[in-house]
Amino acid sequence: MKSERDPFEVNLIGVTKTVPVELITEAADAGIRLFGESRVQEAEEKIASFAPIALKEGFSGVQWHFIGHLQRNKARQAVRLFDMIHSLDSLELAWELNKEASKIGKIQQALIQLKLSEEETKHGLPESCLFDLLKAVSSMDNLSVLGLMTIPPLFEKPESSRPYFQKLASLRERAQREGFNLPYLSMGMSSDYEIAIEEGATFIRVGTAIFGQR
Ligand SMILES: *Cc1c(COP(=O)(O)O)cnc(C)c1O
Repeated sequence: MKSERDPFEVNLIGVTKTVPVELITEAADAGIRLFGESRVQEAEEKIASFAPIALKEGFSGVQWHFIGHLQRNKARQAVRLFDMIHSLDSLELAWELNKEASKIGKIQQALIQLKLSEEETKHGLPESCLFDLLKAVSSMDNLSVLGLMTIPPLFEKPESSRPYFQKLASLRERAQREGFNLPYLSMGMSSDYEIAIEEGATFIRVGTAIFGQR
């Protein structure tokens, strides 16, 4: 294996936005257990219709991960639907997730999404705010931040994503040295997941390469 990573360290998330439940079922049949959605409303319907299928087919260990931008007014639904939220990008959202999770006695797992480029349109926390947010969430009882996520700008060449992945990995290392426990790095999509794996990804989020063009 090129990157010499332990394959058990790298978790594949099948990104199922716009993908119908029949195809999700096929993917589960093929062994995929983690699914990623980027819109709460769409996910809610699919998760509800997939649940009885998973039960009938005996798919165990299925998890739903939220990977899109999360508005604060959707926090309530999100904590009820998702095992992990990859897009925590503000203190306000952290408060909201913590509050909603506490209402249902859940510890919500989350990753902090960092914005490592200057693009205007991308969501994500600026790097300069990372440590403040890590400190703030460490005192929240119902929110468990377990890692970092990023989406590099769109490039023609996958290799161009590498510096962003390296940056994310080095921020995690710094945070770990300061005592934060961050086992996960969510980075890499259809076009650049191989590079993300070389740079330490523990979650790759792959849509097109599994399910075809959206
Ligand atoms: C859509 C999406 C993906 C998957 O993208 P592909 O290029 O289809 O693999 C990964 N991450 C996020 C945040 C997405 O919105």
